[in-house]
Amino acid sequence: MEIKNQQYSIQGIPLLEIARKYQTPVYVYDGQKILQQVAALKNAFSTVNMKIKYATKALSNISILQLMRKAGTGVDAVSIEEVKLCLHAGFVPGDIMYTPNCVDFEEIREAVDLGVMVNVDNIPMLEHFGTEYGNSVPLCIRLNPHILAGGNSKISVGHIDSKFGISILQLKHVLKIVEAYELNVAGLHVHTGSDILDAEVFLKGAEILFDAAREFADLEFLDFGGGFKVGYKDGDITTDIADVGQKVSKAFQEFCKEYGKELEIWFEPGKFLVSECGYLLVKANVVKPTPATTFVGVDSGLNHLLRPMMYDAYHGVVNISKLDGPERVYTIVGYICETDTIAADRKLKEVKEGDILAIKNAGAYGYSMASNYNSRFRPAEVLLMEGRDHLIRRRETFEDLLRNQESIEL
Ligand SMILES: *Cc1c(COP(=O)(O)O)cnc(C)c1O
Repeated sequence: MEIKNQQYSIQGIPLLEIARKYQTPVYVYDGQKILQQVAALKNAFSTVNMKIKYATKALSNISILQLMRKAGTGVDAVSIEEVKLCLHAGFVPGDIMYTPNCVDFEEIREAVDLGVMVNVDNIPMLEHFGTEYGNSVPLCIRLNPHILAGGNSKISVGHIDSKFGISILQLKHVLKIVEAYELNVAGLHVHTGSDILDAEVFLKGAEILFDAAREFADLEFLDFGGGFKVGYKDGDITTDIADVGQKVSKAFQEFCKEYGKELEIWFEPGKFLVSECGYLLVKANVVKPTPATTFVGVDSGLNHLLRPMMYDAYHGVVNISKLDGPERVYTIVGYICETDTIAADRKLKEVKEGDILAIKNAGAYGYSMASNYNSRFRPAEVLLMEGRDHLIRRRETFEDLLRNQESIEL
C-alpha cells in the first residue's frame, strides 16, 4: 500500500475506490506482491533445485491458485477438497502434494486415483498404503523432528506431543515397514510450524531430515514445509529469506554430494507468499468513547478475520479515509455478538463514522478461515493485477445462507 495522489493505493488504484465499488467488508489482494514473494523465494534458492508447493489452505480462491500456477509454483493440499480445487485451477496431478492428517483411507485412495503424491503422516496409514499399493505408487513420509518452532502453540506442530507426522524416534519401525512392503519412498517431509524466524530452525530440521534420508536409497526430494515469518508491524523481525536460502542451500548441496544424487528441495509456504498481499477493507459503523477506551466498531469481525482472536495475531490498521491530522488511540472491534477485538490500543488518524479502515496482512488465513457466524455474509474478494481490479468472489447473499437447509413440517 502506497500513498499516491493523496490516496492509499495499490498498483495506482485507490483502495477507497475499491471500497466504494465493491462495498465493505471486502478482501483485496495485490497480485503483484504475490509474484514478488514467489520471485524472492526462487532467488534465495537459485543455486539448488528448489520447488515451491504453495500451501493452499492459506488462501484458496481459484484465481489465486491460477496466479500461483502462472508463477510456476506447485501446491500442497491438506484435504481432498483442496486437491480438487487445485486440479480445477489447472494444476496437473504431478504438481500437487497431498498432506492429510487423520483422514479416512478412502481419501488417500481418491488422491492416488487422481495421480497425486501422498504425504503419509502415521504408521498405520503407511502399512495400509503398503498393503494396498506395495511399490507401485511413490509416496512421501512426513516425519516429526520434535523441534519446537513457531510463534504460538496453536501453530507449532513439530513438538513432542503434536499430532502431526511420524516421530523421528520411530524411524526404525518406519524402515521395517518400508522394507517389508518394498515401498517406493520418493520424499521425506518435515513442517515444524508457522512464524519461524531464522535459518537455525530450518538447519536443525535439515540435520534431522538428512540423518533420516541416509536410510532411504531412492529419494527424489526433501520437503522442508512452510512457516517463514513475515512482518506484521513496522520494525518486526521477519525471516531473512536470502540468509535462510544461502545457509540451507549450502547444507543441502553438501548433503546431495554425500547422497550421490541431485535431489530437489521443496518448500510449502503459505503466509510468506500471501500474507502481505491482503487487505480487509471495513467501514467504521460506530465510534464509541467509554471510560476505558474509544472503540471503533466496524462492519466485520471474527467471522471474517479470525486470527486476532484465535492466535492473538497482530494486524496493522490504517484509516484510509484520512491522510492527515492528529492521531488518536482506538480499539478496533467487530460487530459480532462476542468479544471480537481486531486491534487494541492503536494510533489511527482520527476516525469518523463511515471512514474506511484497511486491516493489513489479511491475505493468509483470512478468507480461508471465514465463516457465517452470526448469519453474516462472507465478504467479496478482489484481485488487483496490472493496475486493474478483478472481482474473484462475489459477496454472499441471503440465498447462500439458506442453501442446503431443508424446511420441514413442524
Ligand atoms: C499450514 C501448512 C503449511 C504453511 O504454513 P505457513 O506458516 O503458512 O507457511 C505448509 N505445510 C503444511 C503441511 C501445512 O500444514
